[in-house]
Amino acid sequence: MGLNVIMLGAPGAGKGTQAERFARQRGLPKISTGEILRQGIKDQLPVALVTEAKMDRGELVDDETMVTIVRERLARPDTEGGFVLDGFPRTVSQARSLDAIVDERGNGPLVVVDIVVPEEDLVRRLAGRLICSKCGTNAAPADGPEMTCRQCGETLVQRADDSQQVVLERLKIYHRATEPLVDYYRGRPTFRTVNGAQPPDRVARELDATIDDAAGEGARAALGAPGSSRR
Ligand code: AMP
Repeated sequence: MGLNVIMLGAPGAGKGTQAERFARQRGLPKISTGEILRQGIKDQLPVALVTEAKMDRGELVDDETMVTIVRERLARPDTEGGFVLDGFPRTVSQARSLDAIVDERGNGPLVVVDIVVPEEDLVRRLAGRLICSKCGTNAAPADGPEMTCRQCGETLVQRADDSQQVVLERLKIYHRATEPLVDYYRGRPTFRTVNGAQPPDRVARELDATIDDAAGEGARAALGAPGSSRR
């Protein structure tokens, strides 16, 4: 059975950083839909280029495009042992499609972790966030004055959609379109919340324990063990 993880949380909650670390430690592919789109724009792929204006405004790309991208990505063999999804799903409709994909795969349930951070912390974090201009890696806050990427050494820059006005728009859209996902998933035995307003290594430790616990619960539920509920 695979370890299939999705990380929920507002922009700036630390999903990307934590998803990257968790996936690396567990040998799973981290699939970030935002990164796939940004890379597609760099590579001048038509499917990504039509999303560029929406992304720059902080708006969501349409569900059909996003589901197609994720369906194709989850069909690759490196996801056999599971995956860590970051930035998908972002709407209830995407979540329903993901459930269908996960059911078709028949490779274990979804573990859903919501990383919770107060709103004022989110705005502050997003304004200071930097990514690598070449490979798109999130800079760790401790990357220091050199301002170069720890993966490839390239210059770090602010993301096009992290300007103050776009940040506020993205948070508004998050509350409207993405927060209902929490209600969609809350009743499942594999749903968990994690306190994201802690130093990153503390969040990491809490996440590790929480995901393992939820995955165990999911496995028991799949077997129909007493005391567990199926989704
Ligand atoms: P992210 O890097 O996850 O913050 O995504 C950056 C931007 O890509 C978002 O603001 C959206 O414009 C777009 N995007 C990424 N993932 C999705 C998704 N699942 N649904 C709709 N739009 C998305």
